[in-house]
Amino acid sequence: MFYAVANAGVLIVCGRTKLLVDALFTGGRGAGFSPPSDAVLECMLAGEAPFDGLSAYVFTHLHPDHGEPCAIARIRDKSVPVLLPRTARFAREVEALENPVVYFDGAESCVDVGGLRVTAVETEHAGGEAFGIEHRSLFLGAPGRRVFLAGDARSDDARLPGGRTADIAFLAFPEVARAGGRALIEALSPKKLFLYHLPFPEDDRYRMNAMTRRRIEENADWLPETEVFRKASGHLVISGNYE
Ligand SMILES: [Zn+2]
Ligand SMILES: [Zn+2]
Repeated sequence: MFYAVANAGVLIVCGRTKLLVDALFTGGRGAGFSPPSDAVLECMLAGEAPFDGLSAYVFTHLHPDHGEPCAIARIRDKSVPVLLPRTARFAREVEALENPVVYFDGAESCVDVGGLRVTAVETEHAGGEAFGIEHRSLFLGAPGRRVFLAGDARSDDARLPGGRTADIAFLAFPEVARAGGRALIEALSPKKLFLYHLPFPEDDRYRMNAMTRRRIEENADWLPETEVFRKASGHLVISGNYE
């Protein structure tokens, strides 16, 4: 089961394993992104349903529309591990966290969380060196039941997909109209594609949701089953099944 939380924030529920990815932040509103509502952020930090029994908080990178150390520090249950790339810019803040931290070191690292394998592949952030931030794209699970989350990766990063396929893939919405995005989608060959990193309707000043739906129609001849990863104002929206 997937829940859209915010921007590129996703709650993934697979059996008894629950991973919350890229969801603890407060920034980005007004820049075309949507942070979680205060109520949803509070639930995530407190581990209230549907965020109860979280196996880990996971981050592709520490940008203000994915994960902020000041928000991560507010996780109530200090026993839940935090998985993220080692980032020089926030080294002190992350070291000061009370929760156990597992770093995605090296070009590729694997962490087993609650029976689900998290494989983090080092990728370059879209937009290039200007961002200068450690970034990982994630493969969750095993072949036959594998989920791919690109984060903010450049879709033409040569390390993707690294010979892997995915059953369900999450890609940032602009990728559907890029040659690199198409090549990555075709190589991953997902049964289902979610386009994410879209704002809530009330923050959607550039009408990106409508544009993305149009692009899905325009590219329907080669796309797999594709959906905009939906969100509604401050609510959690169940957007797909993974069980
Ligand atoms: Zn980013
Ligand atoms: Zn982003």
